[in-house]
Formats: sequence, C-alpha cells, structure tokens
Amino acid sequence: MHISAHKNLKNIAIILCAGSGNRTGLLHNKILHMVGHITVLEHTLSAFDQSNIDGFVVVTSIQDQTAITSLLSTLQIKKPLSITTGGKARTDSVINGLNHTAKIYPDCSIVAIHDGARPYVQPQLINDTIESAKKYGSGILAVPAIDTIKQVDSDNIIGTLDREMLYHIQTPQSFRFDEIFSAYNKCVSVWANALGRPNFTDDSEVYQLAGYTPKIVLGDYNNIKLTTPNDFLKPASINSFIGVGFDVHQLVENRPLILGGVTIPFSKGLLGHSDADVLTHAIMDAILSASNLSDIGTHFPDTDPNYKNANSIELLKKVLEKISALDFKIHNISAVIMAEKPKLAPHISAIINSLASVLSISTTQISISATTHEGLGIIGEGKGIASSVSCLLVK
Ligand code: MG
Repeated sequence: MHISAHKNLKNIAIILCAGSGNRTGLLHNKILHMVGHITVLEHTLSAFDQSNIDGFVVVTSIQDQTAITSLLSTLQIKKPLSITTGGKARTDSVINGLNHTAKIYPDCSIVAIHDGARPYVQPQLINDTIESAKKYGSGILAVPAIDTIKQVDSDNIIGTLDREMLYHIQTPQSFRFDEIFSAYNKCVSVWANALGRPNFTDDSEVYQLAGYTPKIVLGDYNNIKLTTPNDFLKPASINSFIGVGFDVHQLVENRPLILGGVTIPFSKGLLGHSDADVLTHAIMDAILSASNLSDIGTHFPDTDPNYKNANSIELLKKVLEKISALDFKIHNISAVIMAEKPKLAPHISAIINSLASVLSISTTQISISATTHEGLGIIGEGKGIASSVSCLLVK
C-alpha cells in the first residue's frame, strides 16, 4: 500500500470493491471469485493497468480489506495503487474514494469510477471515457437498450418507454475530477436530505444533479456487472475456448516409447518422423485447435528435415509461444491414452509432472487416463498407441 502522495499523475481509477455481493449466492465477495485462472478483481485491474490510467484507488469493505490487500500484494500491477475503505452504501464508497484520490493523487485531473465486479471491460473503452471526459467533462459508458422496456404497476403494464431513448449504463464513468468531486460534496450536503435518498447507484446522476450534462460513450454488451450466479457462467463462455486433438502411431521394435516427454520402459516404441510422442502430439493439436491455429502438421510438417527425430516437448514449447502471443492461457487439459500394452498406470504421475513443468501450469490442471481396447482393432492387437485430448484455453 502506498501512503505517500504521488505527484503528476493525472488519470486515476477508483475501483469499487466494497459491495457485499449477496445476490451472487457466493460465500465470499464476488471480487475474489475465480473466473478462469484469476480472480474477478485481477481481470478488472489488468484491463485498467493496460489503459491510459496512471494510478489506482481500490475501495474495499472493512471485512474484505485484509483479503484484498493480501491479493493485491501478489499482483504485478505496473501503476501505483492505494487502498481505502468504503461506506455502507455505494455513494459513501465513491465519496471515500474521491477524498482518498484528492489526498494520494493531488494532481488528478480525470477520475474513472468503475465497479470492481465488471471484469470484462476493455482498455480501449476505458481510454474512450477518459478522452471524452477531457473533451466534454464526462464519459459515461453505455449501450443501447435491446429489449422493450415497460413501466409496470403491480402486475399491470401501464406504459411503454421509447426504446430509442433508453441506454443501459455501465462503468467506467470518467469525469473531470474537480467537477465530480464538488458534485458529490454537494450531494452529501444538500440532495441526500432533500431527495430523501442517501444512495445513488450511478455517478452520472450525481453529476447531472449538479448541473452538468453527462456524455455517453458507446460501451460493450460483454461489459456486464457480475451480480447473479448466472453472470458467472456467461463471461466464462465468452472467454473460454475448447479444443480437441487426436493422434495415433505405430508400435515397432528398436524405438523408445515416449509419452508426454517421459521414456516408458517397454520392448517396443512408436514409429514416426519425430520422436512420435503420441500424447504430446495430441496435446499440441488440442491447444492449436482451441486457439484456432490449425494443427501440428501445418506448423511442423513431417516433410521438413528439421523435425526428423524432433523432441516433441520442444515443439510443445513452440506451440505455447504461439498461443501466449495471442494472450491465451491453458485452463486445463484432459487426455486419454489408448494402449493395450504396456501398463501405463505406474507412469501417469511422472507424465503429468513432466507436462505441468513444460506448460507452466499446476499438476491439478492436467488429467490423464489410460485405457486398453479390449483386444479389438489395431490398438487392441498392440500394433499402435493412440491418444485423444481436450483442452480449454482462456483469454
Ligand atoms: Mg503424431
């Protein structure tokens, strides 16, 4: 945590993480929930870290402050970050965040206020709101309403709102700092009592009540606020990519049997242009399939003398580089090896350890099973070994 003030930082993000998240049905703050391989908060901060934001204020509840502080200490956020506590209602948390921003970042000119539970915001959208705030005073992310929206009294529809005029408001909402700061201060002293509603769910309303005209910036329908249990399923489908891979090689005399980079003691080995590591080949194809990058035959053709007797683990490392360049990470790999002989069960954990180390993932992210073909067909007659692999990538 940075306590001293940071000079000359103009664009500051206030990330609101003080909500209880009761509607999610989770036992912990949704901010700390894992989506893919990282928490909701890490997704959010990472998007802002890649944007034109210069520094952060993270607003937490008192009960979550220890957990969030310890998570933040493990993250590699490039920009300065300071934590403060929120209040009971959202409005209190925003006011605390603004007061803290004034203290820690005295040169702040633009502030982007964002719900920590909107992890799918894109850096470009954040930048768009900042640019709008510089130009017009504010930039409010919003998307046009898709559904027809009705006014309802009890069970009765009493009116239809003109959809052309309706937008779903998102965050971030960026403002000139002095304007939103004074608007909130006014809101505390005057409107809260006069309007009989001490909590505002939206900053642009406070800004508007202070006499400004908030400016819309076109948002993204994927930039949802995680609120109900269903919301945690939607983003997973947006950011996850499944792939399958299959390979088979012939078993012959005088060749080593290599599976997942591990040499298995056996009287025969697999025949191929490379080391014929059938499991690693199927894994590479599953990863390439999930990332829509064709297959190993395209990347490492068996007509290329460079790949004669190639170590398949080295090829797997090349595949990893290709998907890393596209920002993909492996969520999990699930493989089955089909072999009549040898018995593979004693070697499975060594194979998992070998692959986890190469792929830089946990051994719990790789599952490998082995099966025979009950004497049926080519595999069952012991003429070859096959492998089938599924892989889930996250972006
Ligand atoms: Mg092969």
